[in-house]
Amino acid sequence: MMIAKYVQKLEAYTPGEQPKLKSVVKLNTNENPYPPSPRCAQVLKNFDLDKLRRYPDPVFAELREALAKLNGTKAENIFVGNGSDEILSVAARAFVEDDEKIGSLDPSYSLYKTLADIRNVPWVGIDTAEAEKPKMELRDKKVSLFLWTNPNAPTGVFAPEKKIKAFAKAFSGVVIVDEAYADFAKENSMALAVKRGNRNVIVMRTFSKSYSLAGLRVGYCVGPKDLIDAMYKVKDSYNVDAVAQAIALAAVKDQKWMLRNVARVVKERAKLTKELQNRGWDVMPSESNFLFARPPKGNAKEIFENLKSKNVFVRYFPSSPKTSDRIRITVGTCDEMKALLAAIDF
Ligand code: PMP
Repeated sequence: MMIAKYVQKLEAYTPGEQPKLKSVVKLNTNENPYPPSPRCAQVLKNFDLDKLRRYPDPVFAELREALAKLNGTKAENIFVGNGSDEILSVAARAFVEDDEKIGSLDPSYSLYKTLADIRNVPWVGIDTAEAEKPKMELRDKKVSLFLWTNPNAPTGVFAPEKKIKAFAKAFSGVVIVDEAYADFAKENSMALAVKRGNRNVIVMRTFSKSYSLAGLRVGYCVGPKDLIDAMYKVKDSYNVDAVAQAIALAAVKDQKWMLRNVARVVKERAKLTKELQNRGWDVMPSESNFLFARPPKGNAKEIFENLKSKNVFVRYFPSSPKTSDRIRITVGTCDEMKALLAAIDF
């Protein structure tokens, strides 16, 4: 048999659609509607092609240094990946034995289950309310890696640091707090990874959302040195290319740009929440750049398809009863939100 058995039965991750037409209102993959920092454009324009002739820095020293400074930690505590998706697969290799399991909140980022399938280990989903119980301890001791998305996706709901901290304390494995959307939230849990004493917490971020760089593929994480060292051991030799390292560095150094765009998204998020509520929708309280909303008649599938026929792309997750009565809408520009509402009202 040429293809491994577990791969034969593997169901691939379904990413959000990337329509070819430029004129669509694209609110389906939580991208930032605003452009990246002009400093990124400058880096591209002036990029020395000779740098492409050579291999990139395998340990992204300059970027690591800048990220350490940004988060008040040391370079030795930082790992960078080809998108945070790569960090997740590196973690699945570094922290999970063949007879162990990967856990996450349920519902959550649907890639986690695929990640476990690719690693050929079981996935265990637990309810957010369950995970947030004080001193919650996973009964399943085989779970050695737990992915806690905060704010969660696709719900947008935020969990306070103390709940994650209590969970991590009682958990024997590694907890990755996936903070892909944390820049849009009122608080974050970076302190859990930066402060000493948390032996098992890694906090992960991405350049894909708040920095408007989803096409670049850069994410990073912060954690205890022994865990970070393990990730370096199993990563691909040159996992972050030279252009990506240089552009990400420019983006990190322009915090003002990122924070301004985040503020605009947060403002539109509040406006859209009100507009949908006025139309009888149930909107989960979101601390991210998207809303998870149930239409008044619960006919999410119909609305999803209807919007698509009008070239307004949102996301629909039909595979679980926990998600199938809602649609996930990425918060876009003021004009995009107007177009969305017009399509809903029509
Ligand atoms: N975590 C969550 C919760 C996400 O929604 C996403 C984006 N789909 C990612 C991680 C991965 O982001 P990226 O690989 O672009 O850094």
